Amino acid sequence: MVPTPDVIVVGGGLAGLVAARHLGGGGVDATLYERRETVGGRVQTRERDGYRFDRGFQVLFTAYPAVQRELDLEALSLRRFDPGATLAGPNGRTTLADPLREPETIPATLSNPFVSIGDAFRVARLWWDLRRTEPDAILDGASETTIGTYLRERGFSDRFIEGFIAPFYGGITLDRSLSTSSRVFEYTFRALATGDITVPAGGMGAIPAQLADRVRELGGTIETDVTVESVSAAVDDSNGVDTRESAGTVTVDIGDRTAEADAVVVATDPPTARELTAVSSVPTDARACVTQYYALPADTDLATSRRLLLNATEAGPNHVVPHSAIAPEYAPDDESLISATYLGEQRGISTTTKHNGVQTDASLAERTRSTLESWYPDRRFDGLEPLHTERIPFAQFAQPPGFRDRLPDVREPAGPVYLAGDYTRWSSIQGAMESGRRAAKSVIDDLSR
Ligand SMILES: Cc1cc2nc3c(=O)[nH]c(=O)nc-3n(C[C@H](O)[C@H](O)[C@H](O)COP(=O)(O)OP(=O)(O)OC[C@H]3O[C@@H](n4cnc5c(N)ncnc54)[C@H](O)[C@@H]3O)c2cc1C
Repeated sequence: MVPTPDVIVVGGGLAGLVAARHLGGGGVDATLYERRETVGGRVQTRERDGYRFDRGFQVLFTAYPAVQRELDLEALSLRRFDPGATLAGPNGRTTLADPLREPETIPATLSNPFVSIGDAFRVARLWWDLRRTEPDAILDGASETTIGTYLRERGFSDRFIEGFIAPFYGGITLDRSLSTSSRVFEYTFRALATGDITVPAGGMGAIPAQLADRVRELGGTIETDVTVESVSAAVDDSNGVDTRESAGTVTVDIGDRTAEADAVVVATDPPTARELTAVSSVPTDARACVTQYYALPADTDLATSRRLLLNATEAGPNHVVPHSAIAPEYAPDDESLISATYLGEQRGISTTTKHNGVQTDASLAERTRSTLESWYPDRRFDGLEPLHTERIPFAQFAQPPGFRDRLPDVREPAGPVYLAGDYTRWSSIQGAMESGRRAAKSVIDDLSR
């Protein structure tokens, strides 16, 4: 009888969980080691006093192909954002709806100061073109530039680009300068045109929790609080050919013990993946952000329905999210929960800065309070109570034009060592899950040769 192959997965983010699940489905004994107490990696939810705090504001796009393939969306009880956004600045607030989904908002859209009639037609044209393009064809498309240049070449006005696209895509790519690849713009724009922006009622952490259940159902093992310190492939190249068929076993070092397997999938964050595998093409140029959560009295109405509030100027947070208006499960009944996300690490820029140049939680809360008071000049936000701050130095990796040509393949390391992680495709839930599936398929194909 042929023994069942053993495969170790290092890292329990979305990529590692999806890899382990497909390995289990392919008849492999998968053991996943995760360094933290819980799986999820960059997608986590912390629960405290009836609040749910995601690890930074992030959302699930239902149109992503891997999301549809890997998740039971029904079981996640998704809560949907209203399409569009409220644009806010010292001159007031204005709602930008999605007239393609809500035709009754066409007159309001056409009178919005940030959108010219030409911009509205160009959005409709883009929507039409991208809806008909296959997602993978977008990622592998022929032409590529920055998001800013892409939109200017299509004739969009500066007011639309700077007032709406910069904060909206600043939120998606954590890069308000719009220097990210236009392929990321096209891919996400297509997802926005064809699906919903959502969060699970139980918080974003419900996504990895569901994937972990699938891993276990398929016979896989998940060990948390286990840090893999090194990965060594015993490559048998006695015949002078270093092929995966001739490759031997892999040993991982877990502090006081070692574990052996027929293959290892390294599914850690990019900097750790580079350390463990020495693959120098793993990207390590980070996009950082800080999300701070606040309680407000339950009857506070930010007059934005279930839409994001985007900062039309560069001062203050990039976006503010009315979490409990979108998902009431995110706060106790008698409170509402909002968050403000600042792009970058918030390193020293003013006298309110302390602790090695990082803005304190209190100074960030004060900035949020004064920003909200400038957006709502007839209100005071003295009751804004900071509850929790998430500082995320490595939220995504930088994705300038051409970035995909430089990313490593899942088979890049020597021997039976594979890579899985957003950094093999693009920095997103879609990229991470798709990478996990591809890594598992490569392992299974190679082991069955
Ligand atoms: C604030 C923020 C906002 C975002 N917004 C969105 C969004 O709205 N939509 C979207 O699609 N994407 C978004 N993303 C990106 C998306 O979350 C990531 O691309 C994706 O989760 C990456 O998953 P991963 O499995 O590749 O890596 P990770 O989530 O980084 O997982 C790696 C795992 O490996 C573990 N690990 C590391 N080293 C070791 C070791 N030595 N031994 C054992 N385990 C180890 C880590 O603890 C971690 O659990 C956002 C990310 C952040 C942080």
